[in-house]
Amino acid sequence: MSVLRLAVPTPLRRYFDYLPPAGMTPSRLAGLEPGSRFTVPFGNRELTGWLVEIAGSSELAGDALRPAVALLDEHSLLPENLLALCEWAIHYYHHAPGEVFAAAFPARLRQGKPHRPAGESAWRLSERGQGLPAGGLPRAPRQAQALAMLQAEPSVSQQRLADAGVTNSVLRELANKGLAERCHLAPTPRRPHSRQAMALNAEQSAVMRALDDIGGRCSSHLLEGVTGSGKTEIYLQLIDCCLQRGQQALVLIPEIGLTPQTLSRFRARFDAEIAVLHSGLTDAERERAWELARTGVAHIVIGTRSAVFTPLDATGLIIVDEEHDLSYKQQDGFRYSARDVAVKRAQIEGCPVLLGSATPSLESLHNALSGRYHHHRLRERAGRASMPAISVIDIRRQELEAGLSAPLLEAVEQCGEQGEQVLLFLNRRGFAPTLQCHDCGWIAQCNACDARLTVHRRRRQLRCHHCGAAAALPPRCPDCGGDALLTAGLGTEQTEAFLQQRFPDRNVLRVDSDTMQGREAMAELIEQLQQGEPTILLGTQMLTKGHHFPGIALVAVIDADGMLFSSDFRGEERLAQLLTQVAGRAGRAEMPGRVLLQTHYPDHPAMLSMVEEPYGDRARALLRERVAAALPPAGQLLMIRSDCPDATTGEQFLAQLRGKLERALPAGCRCVGPLPSPMQRRAGRFRFQLLVSAPDRRSAQVAARRIAGAAEAIPARRGLNWSLDVDPQEVV
Ligand code: ADP
Ligand code: ZN
Ligand code: ZN
Repeated sequence: MSVLRLAVPTPLRRYFDYLPPAGMTPSRLAGLEPGSRFTVPFGNRELTGWLVEIAGSSELAGDALRPAVALLDEHSLLPENLLALCEWAIHYYHHAPGEVFAAAFPARLRQGKPHRPAGESAWRLSERGQGLPAGGLPRAPRQAQALAMLQAEPSVSQQRLADAGVTNSVLRELANKGLAERCHLAPTPRRPHSRQAMALNAEQSAVMRALDDIGGRCSSHLLEGVTGSGKTEIYLQLIDCCLQRGQQALVLIPEIGLTPQTLSRFRARFDAEIAVLHSGLTDAERERAWELARTGVAHIVIGTRSAVFTPLDATGLIIVDEEHDLSYKQQDGFRYSARDVAVKRAQIEGCPVLLGSATPSLESLHNALSGRYHHHRLRERAGRASMPAISVIDIRRQELEAGLSAPLLEAVEQCGEQGEQVLLFLNRRGFAPTLQCHDCGWIAQCNACDARLTVHRRRRQLRCHHCGAAAALPPRCPDCGGDALLTAGLGTEQTEAFLQQRFPDRNVLRVDSDTMQGREAMAELIEQLQQGEPTILLGTQMLTKGHHFPGIALVAVIDADGMLFSSDFRGEERLAQLLTQVAGRAGRAEMPGRVLLQTHYPDHPAMLSMVEEPYGDRARALLRERVAAALPPAGQLLMIRSDCPDATTGEQFLAQLRGKLERALPAGCRCVGPLPSPMQRRAGRFRFQLLVSAPDRRSAQVAARRIAGAAEAIPARRGLNWSLDVDPQEVV
């Protein structure tokens, strides 16, 4: 008996058994490859699943097994290495196998549509057509023209035929006469070339030499280099080596906003096929890029988080830029860390992986300092740029206009006089985070979340930044009918309006997710800045993600306090990363930059350390504290979250789970909770969490397996969702 064991895209953490499709011969069955797609019946639907193995028996009785409907791929579209990676992720994250496989495929293929090879559709002569003499079909001049083109070459792409004025109907007529037929033109692989590289400075050369010695062999590296130290130049030169070995390079970047600049830099350097994968693509574009990567036609694959699962033909190098960035962690569904998956992938593929950042995560730093990763440092800015000078503005008792103190306004004023650009950082979009009635104290709250609504004045709306709900701005207080509605707090829209009025002769550009809609927005902004006009750039963390704004002389953080009192144990690490990254936007070309931090707490250790010590030193101190407290990267965490429209079910579920785990967890594991999540109600659902800490990786893995097993054994309750997060990034 042969049983097809499949990963089917459902949230269930198990495989599903099927009989082979009716009529499948034993020899075809024997030739099946793991990773091939099948259409299978599932309940009263049909789903697309992936073959994992052919088993000799099933736990299900023979007559309970249903046959698969059809085999979709004669050969697996995933290379063996990627199958191994999926298998690892299924085990490590204890996630539903079908959802893990789904992450490796573009949408059309997940939906069971036929695989379309890359390349173009084309036409060629049929056998009969080849017998025709040159100058055939003299009485049908347009068909004769097409015939002549097809006689000149083995096949001609549809596009070139169209360009020459040959219409589809002419081609169809030739086909009807049996003279021509459709065919497929595979893309022609070309040899990649690198254009002129920069002469590396001493620090960069040392890093290149160290990596050179390793060659293309399996190894993990952390490149810790201050902002503007020339990390990207090193990436480019390493990629060049990789391409010269005839292999492909996979480059992960944090967000789509980064793509235009990174991409143009790669395009300028390489005469090579570059495939780009990010969420802003249409399904068709994504599938094409995926296919170019898979077949080895693309030399370089650049993408965001999910690109880590892109199949490649010959992986030679993996780079994770800004490796500390939170966007590498998927925060729902299949909760993987693309950085961690990248490191595992390099091990499986037997190639080097390079994690780069000016502000490495404590996890990666720990791995580097303990010798698990090779550690490379760049302490100086490349070229002639120098690090910016950072100082604090004590805003206690100072008068603020739209959040800006007099010394800051003066500094902005001066930059304008010198024709320089300014970047102001305010991590809150909208006009104001609170709307309140001055008569009765009413506050605009979201109906579905434990959160206040943000005032968006331009659109005359109240919006919830957590569930997306939006309502018209009320003209009067809905409680008492009074008209004394006041806004409290600050958002980018408000500061923008103030800046426009205060500096009427300067460009004020607001950069947040409200203004940066559409995929050209960031590219347009960068172009505008490159014209060098004195500009004030005002924005949220969107601005901090590794962009190059070479003309920026002053960077100011309007509300550094907003981030000071996080209750997450990673709060200080994140604050130091964010402030260092914001500060790193200043003075990247030849002018020295300046950074100002506005705060009510100039003596807070985090503020002092920003001014006094570089990130690298701060991070090492924080790491020692973490290790002493047995928090990650020392020890490991697992988070079980529940959410339910009902206020108590989720908590009961987690309490029951905890009860089952009490004696089932390995030694040294501890449970905390169930506790309400920091925002207990979101989008109408009540959320709770149970945190499990484990002393090491091995016991964390055992614990995760028992947790998943115990949770699945608790009978499902209506409306209740739960999830297991291995290595959670947000635990408050
Ligand atoms: P990072 O990626 O570390 O932020 P980049 O590679 O973007 O740094 O380099 C910062 C700036 O320094 C860029 O303008 C780059 O062109 C320039 N640069 C990099 N390496 C060199 C070098 N060896 N000599 C001169 N300029 C360099
Ligand atoms: Zn009121
Ligand atoms: Zn809401």
